[in-house]
Amino acid sequence: MKVFKFGGASVKDAEGVKNLAQVLTTTGDKDLVVVISAMGKMTNAFEQVVTNYFDTKSEVPSALNEIVHFHHTILKELFTSEKHPVFLKVNQLITELSQLLDKNKSKQHPFVYDQVVPYGELISTCIVSAYLLEIGIENTLLDARDCIITDTKYRDANIQWEETQQRISEVVKKKGITVTQGFIASENTHNFTTTLGREGSDYTAAIFGYCLNADTVTIWKDVPGVLNADPRYFNKTTLLHHISYKEAIELAFYGASVIHPKTLQPLQRKEIPLHVKSFYNPTAAGT
Ligand code: ADP
Ligand code: ASP
Ligand code: MG
Repeated sequence: MKVFKFGGASVKDAEGVKNLAQVLTTTGDKDLVVVISAMGKMTNAFEQVVTNYFDTKSEVPSALNEIVHFHHTILKELFTSEKHPVFLKVNQLITELSQLLDKNKSKQHPFVYDQVVPYGELISTCIVSAYLLEIGIENTLLDARDCIITDTKYRDANIQWEETQQRISEVVKKKGITVTQGFIASENTHNFTTTLGREGSDYTAAIFGYCLNADTVTIWKDVPGVLNADPRYFNKTTLLHHISYKEAIELAFYGASVIHPKTLQPLQRKEIPLHVKSFYNPTAAGT
């Protein structure tokens, strides 16, 4: 069993979703948990909805419309008919979110944030799972909130490991492909949604990897692997083929945004290898 994680950059448009499917076909692994982030920069767009909700409520509908438009553009490129049930499912998620905002009475920003922003991941996984089925890649869509259990520290929730381990063992099928959301979880007192912090989907992949005793965890990126410097700022970077857990933790801790800092620890505890590979070149070794 392996865990794959695809970040926002990998599913930023319809081509990205098609490429994700191609990566699954090329690698050919049959028993997989596939953790997916919100598409492109959608997490920022949902954050804007929350900001508007607290600061300029009248602008919430237009912020939501932008989100609807973005996903519909992708849906229309992926599916030939708008009668496909996925259109209805995505609309239902948006309706659910609007109703949640209408009914909400909480003035706690972190709480409201965690009820709103996860829709990015809920929508992306709904689309990707349906697309994979459409092209014949069988998979089960799992709500990560049924498995990843945390405390109530909204926006930076702490994993309740025992309960999470138990739920994952019970719920995740060891055979076949499971598609689920990164970044999102649920707290164990009232079952409200929580999040693991920005860029937390890498951490979600590590949690599944740890609890399932995965053979490997692979995070698929728009770079060939972990480089000796951030290619956005340096043009002569080299690929690090192997680094120790300790070095990777240091890199992440000092801000190499290629890996979320919390990702390494659970993997190190069970000596599960973490691969960082390019979704443009899935057969290359990466890091
Ligand atoms: P995701 O789509 O998974 O969220 P990110 O955009 O957060 O991916 O992370 C990938 C980016 O991390 C790369 O495009 C690169 O600009 C940046 N990055 C920063 N430091 C490094 C590094 N040391 N090696 C590789 N990429 C790095
Ligand atoms: N979608 C979330 C974010 O953009 C989590 C992630 O992508 O890792 O921060
Ligand atoms: Mg990211």
